[in-house]
Amino acid sequence: MDNLLIKALNGDELSISRVLTKIEYMSEEGLKYLDELSKNSGKAYTIGITGIPGAGKSTLISSLIEEYTKSGNKVGVIMIDPSSPISMGSFMGNRIRMQDKTNLNNVFIRSLASRGHLGGFSSEAIMLIEAMDGLGFDPIIVETVGAGQTDTEVVSSVHSVIVVNVPGTGDEIQALKAGIMEIGDIYVINKADLPDAEVLYDAIKFAIDNGEWNGWKPSVIKVSALKKQGIEDLINELKMHKEYLIKSGKFEEITHKRRKEMIELILRRKINNVISIVVNENQNIFEENSIEKIINQLYDKIKQNL
Ligand code: GDP
Repeated sequence: MDNLLIKALNGDELSISRVLTKIEYMSEEGLKYLDELSKNSGKAYTIGITGIPGAGKSTLISSLIEEYTKSGNKVGVIMIDPSSPISMGSFMGNRIRMQDKTNLNNVFIRSLASRGHLGGFSSEAIMLIEAMDGLGFDPIIVETVGAGQTDTEVVSSVHSVIVVNVPGTGDEIQALKAGIMEIGDIYVINKADLPDAEVLYDAIKFAIDNGEWNGWKPSVIKVSALKKQGIEDLINELKMHKEYLIKSGKFEEITHKRRKEMIELILRRKINNVISIVVNENQNIFEENSIEKIINQLYDKIKQNL
């Protein structure tokens, strides 16, 4: 096995980072690494955390990291923030470093904030989940800002989705209106130390109690990420949801779906590259070629390039 990959598997932070970058870029080497790591993956429990900026997602993740590492887990974190040019990942890393130096060895945080060089975050996120899974990180936490396409895609690729709500932001009405109640497995009312937390709790609880659920009925939990209150309840709820997923066969189903999606995304990316090559090579596309000829060229190029 490749030296860099061996070092990454042994937990060397810089090597992990370099392996992940190669995978993200889908370089030939990167895809070989991904192949190798895939032999070892499919085990990790993946948790999505979504909510508006300022909801307290990062603070909450810091608390979750602390709890999970205490029980001996290696925690992977992927942060996706399409709107932010700055790297929240390193910001988070610093924050955790300040909080707890001892546990940091078992945490790896990757940010997709300043990336997106290949257009679209979801394929990168899904590949990173797979790679971190293969590197032995479990759980893997994926943070997204609660809006847009990326969010929906990422949310559908993880096992448990935590929606973070905060009092005083109109989340009560928003939650009920925007159909956000459909995506969460666990609803966290964060900043429960602030006034109006109770009102928000009641509104979301009401919406859930009046919904129709088969299988898992979403839970609502009051948390203060800042004051570290309710974190144990959240960990417990995650445990229960994970057990539910395993018993119902959904755990494996979600992992399988994620991996299929990853393969599809890689194939699409590759095919799109080949299509661009063929189209660019045919400047006077209609004058010199029939569509049939161009398709045959495409097949040839695919054979050469894949
Ligand atoms: P993110 O944008 O969702 O990642 O939110 P952050 O974790 O960066 O938190 C946004 C702000 O809310 C920060 O100033 C936090 O200190 C604050 N915050 C987070 N959790 C709590 C909480 O439980 N109570 C209160 N009062 N403030 C909180």
